[in-house]
Amino acid sequence: MTQLAVKDVQDRLSHAKCAVCQHSRFGIDSRSMKEDGEWKGICLNCYYHFPVYTDMAFYLKTQPDVPYRLKEIPCLNCDERGVTLDFRIVMSVRESLYFVTCRTCHHPFVERSYLEVFE
Ligand SMILES: [Zn+2]
Ligand SMILES: [Zn+2]
Repeated sequence: MTQLAVKDVQDRLSHAKCAVCQHSRFGIDSRSMKEDGEWKGICLNCYYHFPVYTDMAFYLKTQPDVPYRLKEIPCLNCDERGVTLDFRIVMSVRESLYFVTCRTCHHPFVERSYLEVFE
């Protein structure tokens, strides 16, 4: 697995909205970064925090349906289907987001996940 840079993750989190205050500026608490790839994202406006999961190889192993779904996700930029999952966040019990990259044109975007709503 490619190691994600904290800065890249922070930049891409700006495409999400805080579940509490709807602002889009987030930081990563670097002290929270654990061996298992779980980081803590923090809203810089209201300090709401949420888990950021970066170990996607492990996740895809434990969620066998997800790789099939990733193949079906259409790119917002080129319309081709098929993306790579870079990391995911659980913003609230109702909202889980996948941060993905198009396999064809390498356009990064955010895909809402409905799979884990009841997790
Ligand atoms: Zn907030
Ligand atoms: Zn694309």
